[in-house]
Amino acid sequence: MSDHNCSEVRKYCSTGWPSKEKLESALKPYHQYRHEITVTDGLVMKGIRLIIPQCMQSEILQKIHTGHLGITTCRARAKESVWWPGISTQIQQLVDKCFICVKYRRQTH
Ligand SMILES: [Zn+2]
Repeated sequence: MSDHNCSEVRKYCSTGWPSKEKLESALKPYHQYRHEITVTDGLVMKGIRLIIPQCMQSEILQKIHTGHLGITTCRARAKESVWWPGISTQIQQLVDKCFICVKYRRQTH
């Protein structure tokens, strides 16, 4: 986790968070969750969810999307394990663009 955002978030976990206005824009989305964010064994967590650095987000999205189980399952998977600002929207965009997920959705609903 050498990601800039993650290391800044980790820093603020130990030093305390400045007001939202003082944060650089990339870090503002984390601010509202600051009370849930902790550092455990060097890992930055939001509740039980690991905060994923930007460089790994697309890889994690692919993993979440494995099996093409649609938006609800993808979101449920993420909710149990990983988080970053905007993850929910990104999952939605991924599934919306995926014709296999769309096909699955049409068959089951
Ligand atoms: Zn899919």
